[in-house]
Amino acid sequence: MGKEIDIKVKAKYASKMGKGFPLIAKESISNLHDLQEEGSLVRLVDENKRFLAKGYYGKQNKGYGWVLTKSENEKIDQPFFSGKIRAAVEFRNPYFQDPETTAFRVFNGEGDGIGGLIIDHYDGHYVISWYSKGIYSFKEYIIKALQDTVEVKSIYQKKRFDTKGQYVEEDDFVMGEQPEFPLLVKENGVQFAVYLNDGAMVGVFLDQRDVRRKIRDDYAKGKTVLNMFSYTGAFSVFAALGGAIKTTSVDLANRSLPKTIEQFSVNGIDPKTQNIVVMDVFKYFKYAVKKELKFDMVILDPPSFAKSKKFTFSAGKDYTNLLKDTIAITEDEGVIIASTNCSTFDMKKFKSFIEAAFRESNGKYEIIEQFSLPADFKTSPEYKEGNYLKVVFIRKIKG
Ligand code: SAH
Repeated sequence: MGKEIDIKVKAKYASKMGKGFPLIAKESISNLHDLQEEGSLVRLVDENKRFLAKGYYGKQNKGYGWVLTKSENEKIDQPFFSGKIRAAVEFRNPYFQDPETTAFRVFNGEGDGIGGLIIDHYDGHYVISWYSKGIYSFKEYIIKALQDTVEVKSIYQKKRFDTKGQYVEEDDFVMGEQPEFPLLVKENGVQFAVYLNDGAMVGVFLDQRDVRRKIRDDYAKGKTVLNMFSYTGAFSVFAALGGAIKTTSVDLANRSLPKTIEQFSVNGIDPKTQNIVVMDVFKYFKYAVKKELKFDMVILDPPSFAKSKKFTFSAGKDYTNLLKDTIAITEDEGVIIASTNCSTFDMKKFKSFIEAAFRESNGKYEIIEQFSLPADFKTSPEYKEGNYLKVVFIRKIKG
């Protein structure tokens, strides 16, 4: 690590950064040209050269780096990284103790004090996601900190910082004893087959854990369930285990079929008793209307942005229409579970999409549950955008 560089924060942003805002946003810096090598440590100062915070330079889609400490004399060295990892692991102690849940997040970026770094735990195997070259330059400290703190069976990594901010396809294995894949992990007693070495996504999105449990324990029994954008069918598996009469999983990707069959199978459910459809959801809506299909529960979990052959879906623009299509095939008194991981709008705005969809459908509704990130996805109170997940359970009321 070289010399620390002084980075000037524009007046408009200085007080926010002084109070703990962790992101070094591009527009907040007046001497961007002084940022040269990713991984450099930077001293953030205001226009009168007063110290605000210390951080690192690392380019990712969100900004130019992250604050690491607000104390001027704190060194960014091995003890710094070890301290952060130790605190993060201690915070997840209840998860480490729970034999029924062996997959969870151990380190959640700025929520745990180091933006751009994510570490997930899968039954003793760890996956580190690096969101910039800058954070990747601290790799040795971070891996040592992890190994010194927990028992590590193996480590995999996802580099998410090529020129387009996308995942870089390469061998993800870093060290340790490689497990056989699929690796079976548990979540509230349910099995997941995961692949730590197979691209950007391992097979499960851990942030929906509380939602899946709620569906299984309180909503699925005796219901017909449609799971849209189903990926590996995680919601369908929980619904089936909760006593759903039948689940239908719809996803455009060919891989979703074998993956969903696998998730049912590892939980002792015969996949033939369920319906797994590889299709564009927008086509499925039309199909369902034509066949007069209706469901007691519809789960919507689209990506923030997706391109298919005929449509481009953007959560910020198209969620209302997605809900209108859904309302049309939901039974009266049925439940719609609307989810989004889009960080460009908040819960209030999301609810305005729900309101608009029912108004335009001449329907009535009631919000009966809502969720954001689970406790292991620790967020920073100064960085609200980090709390991206919004899930609303909506009852369609007979009008
Ligand atoms: N609900 C899933 C995660 C969804 S990830 C879970 O709980 O695990 C988003 C999924 O949407 C991807 O699997 C992608 O293939 C699918 N997808 C994107 N656009 C689609 C479309 N138009 N129709 C159907 N599936 C789509």
